[in-house]
Amino acid sequence: MKFSEMPYKRIDMDEVKSFFTKLISDSKNAKSGEEQFELHKKYYDFINEIKSNLVIANFRHDCDTTIEEYAKEKDYIDEILPGINQLETEYLKVVFESPYRDFLEQKISKVAFKNMELANNSINDKIIPLMQEENALISKYDKLIASAKIPFDGEEYNLSLLRKFLTADDRETRKRAWKAYSDYFTSVTDEIDDIYDKLVKNRTAQAKELGYDNYVELGYNRMNRNAYRRKEVEGFRKQVKESFVPFVCEIQELRRKNIGVDALKYYDNEVYFTNGNPAPTGTPEEILKAGQEMYRELSPETAEFFDFMTENELFDVLGRKTKKQGGYMDFIPKYKSPIIFANFNGTSGDVDVITHECGHAFQGYVTRDIEIKEHNDLTMETAEIHSMSMEYFTYQWMDKFFGDRADDYRKMHLMDSITFIPYGCMVDEFQHIVYDKPEMTPAERKAVWADLEKQYRPWLDYEDDEFFVNGGFWQKQGHIFWQPFYYIDYVLASVVAMEFKVWMDKDFNEAWKHYLQLCNLSAKDFYENELAEAGLESPFKADTVKNLVEELKKKI
Ligand SMILES: [Zn+2]
Repeated sequence: MKFSEMPYKRIDMDEVKSFFTKLISDSKNAKSGEEQFELHKKYYDFINEIKSNLVIANFRHDCDTTIEEYAKEKDYIDEILPGINQLETEYLKVVFESPYRDFLEQKISKVAFKNMELANNSINDKIIPLMQEENALISKYDKLIASAKIPFDGEEYNLSLLRKFLTADDRETRKRAWKAYSDYFTSVTDEIDDIYDKLVKNRTAQAKELGYDNYVELGYNRMNRNAYRRKEVEGFRKQVKESFVPFVCEIQELRRKNIGVDALKYYDNEVYFTNGNPAPTGTPEEILKAGQEMYRELSPETAEFFDFMTENELFDVLGRKTKKQGGYMDFIPKYKSPIIFANFNGTSGDVDVITHECGHAFQGYVTRDIEIKEHNDLTMETAEIHSMSMEYFTYQWMDKFFGDRADDYRKMHLMDSITFIPYGCMVDEFQHIVYDKPEMTPAERKAVWADLEKQYRPWLDYEDDEFFVNGGFWQKQGHIFWQPFYYIDYVLASVVAMEFKVWMDKDFNEAWKHYLQLCNLSAKDFYENELAEAGLESPFKADTVKNLVEELKKKI
């Protein structure tokens, strides 16, 4: 069904309440596992209907924020959503405590029950005021960052518009841009320190209230870490320090030669070529068209997927003044339709939407007929494999987007992805240290960051920039504020995506077959089981990282 023809129905909260009240009572009184599972299927239908209306309302509003009717629906949804979540949690508790657990586990999966357990251990009524305060602190950080007005060369920029100058072709220009960037953060660093200090203490208080020593365990529960915990992550970071850091140092030396400077400075970061980083050659419409040609050639599955998306108006990616900023992929369960929202602006970010976001959407499309909702409750380290691997599977079509600079793009993308690995681990280790010692002062936290940078990014030379030298760089990394321990998901997924890269260079068809298999497995089994089934090595296994680096070295 075309998006414009999908009916939208305002959610009636009285109806939601009476549905869940009856479901909870029926489920408690079920006389067998079969009966309870039949009731659970009613929950799927009901929640799919609700979720579909939520997604349609959000998407319509994001596509045109000036339409009052849509804005009203969006406000209404924000208001009722916590109530729906609460009723859903209450119901799932009944499922979790079912006397027919074995039967239900077989139907719904062990993973789902583990997730319910983690959720139950992550909240109680007493911490709700703390959680509200936590949300307010996050909003405060977001508002501060969004309202940045940075003077540069006689104009005023926000942080995202300043970005293009940070990687400008001209070295003097980017040096001045980095100075403006650093000056801005210096002017708000005390405020950010204060917000973060309150967040760390708030989260620690939540953890203590729930009976944990500190926030680390609770943070893992909230990230649905149902298959690996701190010990595995620490082992992984150790492997990255040993194997990736020296490799990335070599890549930086290569980059230095490429851009022809005597010594790399922090204002050379992410600059790969003297003639500028590659940008797409076509208009936004041409990029979308090239995407269609590419997916038609890649495989029958992707051809079907992309045509389905186009025919049913499930892309809204062209930039318009009335649209919300940013981009994302979502899914409308009732019509089994992924949707993609973006704002194309003629940069390589547009191509990322066609590769990365379409990777997410493609996975949603191939699993659209899975009836057991829990089988699609992906955790982030898995979901990002689908998207990041697609970035590599589409490499050979990059000439459609970048013309004669396709090779430059591929080189930049691979080097950039490799360079990210130690950085992502550093963000993760920083947060472990912070939440292990919540009593640290802001200055001590910055000293921790500065020390970690020497271990994970030893090539970085901040010259005499005080803000960066003293360990302030992390203040721009939103994930540290939004959701502790989230960032490592990108690193784990990226490592597996690189395994696919190595594989496809040896045998593209085999690699693609196993990629499809992994997409289809969705969230049916635990992380490492799924990797093994799809023929991939777990990043937690000794030597996975080392072997991967050996393979990647041959490509650089
Ligand atoms: Zn993603």
